[in-house]
Amino acid sequence: MKKEKLAVVIFRNNLRLRDNKALLSAQKENTNLLCLYPLEILEGFEYGFEKCGSFRKEFIRETLLSLHSDLDQHNISLYCVEDISQTLQKLHNQFDVEIYYAKEVGSQEESFEKKLQCYKHQSFFDQTMLEPFSFEYKKSFSHFRKKAEKLDVLKSCKKIDIQINNIRAFDIDNKKLKKNLRPRVCKGGETNALERVDFYLQNHIHTYYETRSLISAKDHSTMFSPYLSVGSLSPRILHEKLKQYEKELGASKSSYWIYFELLWREFFHQVMLQTPKELFLKKGLQGKTYPFITDQKQLNLFFDANTGVDIIDAGIKQLKTTGWISNRQRQLLASYFVKNLGLDFRYGAAFFEKYLIDYNPASNYGNWSYQAGVGHDKTYRVFDPVLQSKRYDGAKYVQKWLHKEEEHPKFDYKKMAQTVQKQIFQYSL
Ligand code: FAD
Repeated sequence: MKKEKLAVVIFRNNLRLRDNKALLSAQKENTNLLCLYPLEILEGFEYGFEKCGSFRKEFIRETLLSLHSDLDQHNISLYCVEDISQTLQKLHNQFDVEIYYAKEVGSQEESFEKKLQCYKHQSFFDQTMLEPFSFEYKKSFSHFRKKAEKLDVLKSCKKIDIQINNIRAFDIDNKKLKKNLRPRVCKGGETNALERVDFYLQNHIHTYYETRSLISAKDHSTMFSPYLSVGSLSPRILHEKLKQYEKELGASKSSYWIYFELLWREFFHQVMLQTPKELFLKKGLQGKTYPFITDQKQLNLFFDANTGVDIIDAGIKQLKTTGWISNRQRQLLASYFVKNLGLDFRYGAAFFEKYLIDYNPASNYGNWSYQAGVGHDKTYRVFDPVLQSKRYDGAKYVQKWLHKEEEHPKFDYKKMAQTVQKQIFQYSL
C-alpha cells in the first residue's frame, strides 16, 4: 500500500516562523507537516563542561514555547524528541517521509545532519545575511569584509500563511527540557526578538559606536546575539530593519557599525562553513603547535574567579551568574586566559559554551582561536586588564560583581604575560 506523504521539519537554531526557508518549503510542497526539535543537540560535554548550561536551556525552552504557540496558530505541531533517529524511523515506517532542515556550521552540527540524510531530505543554509561566497578563509577579516561589502544582503522570504493538516498521534516525548528558573538577561521567542530590535533601533541606534565597548550595562550594545544564535531572529530581517531605520532616521557611524559587527558574525560562520573542524583544534587554522597549559589547578583558579585580577574575576562572576558578558569583557577574559595564564583556549571556549546564553560555535570558537593566535589575528596582542578597566568603566562593574572597591593586582601580571609570550608563543622579547 502506498504510504501517505509527510513533511518533517527539523528545527535547531532557526527557531522562528518568519524567513525560515526549511519551514516555508515544507509547507509549500506538502499538506501533512510535522515539526521536531531534537533535544540531543543540547547534550554532551566539552572539556569537562556541559555543552549547554541552564541559562541557554531556559532561553531555548522559552523560545520553543513561543514557537510552539506560533506554529499552533497555523495548525502545525512541534514536538521535542529525545532520539531523532528512532523518531524518524517510526515515522518512516508509517509515512512517506521527506525531511526539511536548515544546514548549520560546525563539525558536530554536520554529524547530526548525517542522521537526517538517510531519508529523503532537502537542506537550506540560512544562518547568514549573505549568500556564502568564495574567499580565502585563512586570511583576515578585512580580506573577507572587502568582498562582503560589495555584495547585496539576501532578502528575507515571506511569512508562512496557509493552514496545514495537523498530525498528532505519535508517541513523542517532550518532557526533557525542564523548566529552569535561574536569572536571565533576556526573554526568548521570536516576538521578544523583534521587540528587542525595534526597541534598540528606536532608542539607541545613534549611540552604539560610542557605547559598544563599555564593559557593563544592558543597552550599551544591541544584545541581538542570543536571538541570532537560536535563530529566533533572522539576520536578513535584522538587516532589513536596520536599513529601514536608517531610511527613516538617517544613517550614522553607529548604524553602520552594527552592520560592521554583523559582518564579524558573518565572517566566522562562512569560515566554519568552509572548514567545519579547524577552529575547534588546538593548532587552529594556522596549524601552530603552541604548548598551551592544561593543568587543572590553574584552570580552576580561573573558572572559580580566583585570578586575583578584579576585572577578570568580576567578569567570570557575571558570566556564571547571568549567562552574559559584554564583548569587551569576553575579549579581556580570553586574552587573560591565553596570554597571561598560557592556558589551552579550548577549555576557555568550552567554559563559555556552557554559560553563554548566546553561544554559537562559529562566533565562540572563531573569537577564541583569534585570541589564542591560532585563528585570524596576525599580530600578537595582549589586553592589559587594569588599563582596560580604567578606560571602560570597570570600577563600578567590579563593585557590582565583587562587592568591593577595585584593587590593583598584588602580583606582576605584565611580567606574567611576558613569560607566557616567551614560553608558550616563543616570541623573542
Ligand atoms: P553588538 O556589539 O551589539 O553587535 C551586534 C551583533 O554583531 C552581535 O549580536 C553579533 O551577532 C555580532 N558580533 C559582534 N561582535 C562580534 C564578534 N566579535 N564576533 C562575531 N559576531 C559579532 N558571539 C556570539 O554570538 N556567540 C558566542 O558564542 C560568542 N563568543 C565569543 C567569545 C569570545 C572570546 C569573544 C571575544 C567574542 C564572542 N562573541 C560571541 C562575539 C561578541 O562578543 C558577541 O556577539 C557580542 O558581545 C554580543 O552582544 P551584542 O549582541 O550586544 O553585540
